Amino acid sequence: MKTSIATVSISGEFPEKLAAIAAAGFDGVEIFENDFLAFDGSPADVGRMVRDHGLEITLFQPFRDFEGMPEPLRSRTFDRAERKFDIMQQLGTDLVLVCSNVSPASLGGIDRAAADFHELGERAAKRGLRVGYEALAWGRHINDHRDAWEIVRRAEHPNIGLILDSFHTLSRKIDVGSIRSIPKDKIFIVQMADAPLIEMDLLYWSRHFRNMPGEGDLPVREFTEAVAATGYDGYLSLEIFNDQFRGGSPRTIAADGYRSLIYLGDQVRRNPEAATLTVAEMPDRVSVKGIGFVEFSTDAEDGENLAGILKTLGFRKTAVHRSKKVSIFQQGEIRLLLNTDEKGFTNASFAVHGTSAYAVALIVDDAGLAYARAIALGAEPFEQPVGQGEVQIPAIRGVGGGLIYLIDERSELGRFAEIDFTPVSGESDISSAHLSHIDHVAQTVAYEEMLTWLLFYTSIFEAEKTPMVDIIDPSGVVRSQVVENASGSLRLTLNGAENRRTLAGHFIAERFGPGIQHLAFHTEDIFATAAALRANGFEPLSISPNYYGDIEARFGLDPGLTERLKADNILYDRDDHGEYFQLYSTTFGEGFFFEIVQRSGYRGYGAANAIFRIAALKKALRPEGLPKL
Ligand code: MG
Ligand code: MG
Repeated sequence: MKTSIATVSISGEFPEKLAAIAAAGFDGVEIFENDFLAFDGSPADVGRMVRDHGLEITLFQPFRDFEGMPEPLRSRTFDRAERKFDIMQQLGTDLVLVCSNVSPASLGGIDRAAADFHELGERAAKRGLRVGYEALAWGRHINDHRDAWEIVRRAEHPNIGLILDSFHTLSRKIDVGSIRSIPKDKIFIVQMADAPLIEMDLLYWSRHFRNMPGEGDLPVREFTEAVAATGYDGYLSLEIFNDQFRGGSPRTIAADGYRSLIYLGDQVRRNPEAATLTVAEMPDRVSVKGIGFVEFSTDAEDGENLAGILKTLGFRKTAVHRSKKVSIFQQGEIRLLLNTDEKGFTNASFAVHGTSAYAVALIVDDAGLAYARAIALGAEPFEQPVGQGEVQIPAIRGVGGGLIYLIDERSELGRFAEIDFTPVSGESDISSAHLSHIDHVAQTVAYEEMLTWLLFYTSIFEAEKTPMVDIIDPSGVVRSQVVENASGSLRLTLNGAENRRTLAGHFIAERFGPGIQHLAFHTEDIFATAAALRANGFEPLSISPNYYGDIEARFGLDPGLTERLKADNILYDRDDHGEYFQLYSTTFGEGFFFEIVQRSGYRGYGAANAIFRIAALKKALRPEGLPKL
């Protein structure tokens, strides 16, 4: 399997696109005619540029409205084809993509089309060129790869073959099993795209909403398995039309695309039927057992405030680092590290973002294997010097340049706290708030980045994404999507902010970048926790009294329960699986906060309560903040 991407898939000027595609690691590139019409070089210059980047031109496209034309259009169409052939020879590529005819002038008939392709094959063969035929999902007569294949078969010409495109096949729900019987040498190339499931016109869906394999909802893996079952081991080439990508960073989009293909190849090679696909092996998706710790970068003054809040939440300081200014605060299985070191990465992170939860440690089976998989999928490694005898924890860069540490129980990594830290005796005036573990970590990102991080998490870790939900902020909509595993030991929420007036948008703008906006701790008894918090002097987020009348009516709650919820500012939700209680802190810094949840079978994250919670958080944020509520 080799990797390719169409130039139309990413933003930027032509040279910028090529540089991004090469940097991401692709083997080849599809040249879209419009991309080089807009560029000042000749086709020969374009070909040279591509080869200078170490890339191969996989094909030239598109050649439209070819087959089934009546005369005199037919003759003109063949003349057009000869001109495309001229360009191809100058570019230095031997394959052109012909997509099925959409012209109202075109005539149907498999044999008529096959005869046209036979003649085109003769002309192409004279120049050593090949022609691939692709069924557009909205083609006038041909909109199904099975019919396109029948035309190619009847054309009976070695220079005529089929081009498969996952979007055209899957958007029309065509059985992918029909691919398995196509001879592999008649499949000239395979184009890949995924898409979110949205009911809309096929052409509009395809032109604006395609995304990378694994980013959407189409059964792209099954499609690729069927392709691999033919023995095909050539290029998988991304052909993505997406408005968001066209406005995004070329490097990020190209890197996402490359990651999506490597991940797809890894999924497919695990199917014995598809064993002919040549793909580098990598360790399995990483199973996450839990959150080992969350580390905050801060300074002495902010750190003291944060430590004060943690104490009211029932955390005790249990250890201090032997060589750095780092303290551990602990409760149940939850470990929070406060780092006030004045040098190194943490301090650099503090200088940019202020106090923030910049690092999360995930507990995995084998940190070495987890790290190897992450790197194989293009994650950026992170390393910094540690003191003598101290533990070097493998790490990769995550959202907003923050860190994801990987620790396991099989090595000394699991004992980093004993090795690197000295225990301290805790304060006696703190009562535990019965917080047991981290329920979820909520990260806020720019909306355009959501697909990047969903693909990052789901390709590296054994976790699935849930459908996107709209979170209603009084100043706009925030898109929210969850990455979680079956056991619930990994729950990450990603909130995509579209404007800075939302709480999430304010957070990104004011802390100069995306990152962790809240941590949710779990309790088995929200009322016992609320009582302990009160005793510790915790300041809860105050919820509008109107909320309680609403939920009492909505869920038919016992008025006694409603009163207790109201007294402690606890939010309530329920689904088919159970109940959910939520309690929030006020905000810290530019919109960071803590949440406490009691999850009794409930599977969601309280989206219905978000509007009440966000309104309250914004009120608490800063009197001068967010003037346009
Ligand atoms: Mg295509
Ligand atoms: Mg939450």
